[in-house]
Amino acid sequence: MAKCLVTGGAGFIGSHLISRLLCDNHSVIAFDHAPWDKLNNLFSLNSSAFKYVQGSVSDSSLFRSLITDAEQIYLLAATLGVRRVIENPIGTANTQVDQVRDICAIASSRQKIFYASTSEVYGKTIVSPLTEDLPLVLGEPDKARWAYACSKLLSEYLLLSLYRDKNVPLVVGRFFNVVGPRQNLSYGAVIPNLLSQAIKGMPLTVFGDGTQTRSFCHVDDAVDAMLSLMNHDSSLGQVFNIGNEEQISIGGLADKIRSLVDPLLEIKMIPYKDAMPFGFEEILHRVPSLNKIKQCTGWSSKYKLDEILRHCFIALKEALV
Ligand code: UDP
Repeated sequence: MAKCLVTGGAGFIGSHLISRLLCDNHSVIAFDHAPWDKLNNLFSLNSSAFKYVQGSVSDSSLFRSLITDAEQIYLLAATLGVRRVIENPIGTANTQVDQVRDICAIASSRQKIFYASTSEVYGKTIVSPLTEDLPLVLGEPDKARWAYACSKLLSEYLLLSLYRDKNVPLVVGRFFNVVGPRQNLSYGAVIPNLLSQAIKGMPLTVFGDGTQTRSFCHVDDAVDAMLSLMNHDSSLGQVFNIGNEEQISIGGLADKIRSLVDPLLEIKMIPYKDAMPFGFEEILHRVPSLNKIKQCTGWSSKYKLDEILRHCFIALKEALV
């Protein structure tokens, strides 16, 4: 069984991943800047195979000591949420660049690495579904939203070079709108946002005209995908989409959430200029092609959107009580 290190381990995806790794009898170090208290997603974990290290991936000497001891490394630490990225583009980029710089400096061929990248790197590419080999069209540098995509993309370049030049086994997964229980409300992601509004009896806020589309991936499916990539050596040195092919418009999503929680709720259309700070730019359509990961690992997503929404609703209702 492997010694695993998970950066961003206390986060939404990280905490689900860690539960799975412990179930699979691995030992895990979670590395995260979040304090170790009742609000920490991992606080209820009780396993001698688990250790929590509080700190920043920008603390190079601490991070390097953790890298040295690990056999599997999952790089999940990130600034999340479009608004938070726009408000802190430098911190957003540093979190990616700092952790990947240390990995490039000291990781070796006896370690295996998963890098959590993002569908944001496809930017404004107008192709549907999005395949991993497409040219990428990002926005201008004065639009701070793109700090996230640019730093993730730079990290992908650096890590794939590390694979080619130093034989460090690694794989990159580009996540498409992962959702599920424990997703932090403060990121402003659309499903927890609309569900919490609905639970509180408030109007559901749809930005723009609501015709923009997304596809949502259950966090359990995302964790399965990560592990299947790590378990198939044929994935190494490559980039894979991780998501769900079921598409919906955001207006349609608000309708579904209203039907699920309370059919009498109002849906309120908010112009982007009133919803988001300067530096925001909408991505109109984003759906992954999952052929590559299916062919390489046999993985495919199991959850349909209706079931995903029910899971999120139940978890959020409990959390908000
Ligand atoms: N959105 C919305 N209402 C909200 C939050 C988000 O209409 O309360 C829209 C947002 O403009 C985008 C989509 O929902 O079109 C998904 O936003 P999210 O921030 O969840 O993720 P993104 O795919 O933009 O990174």
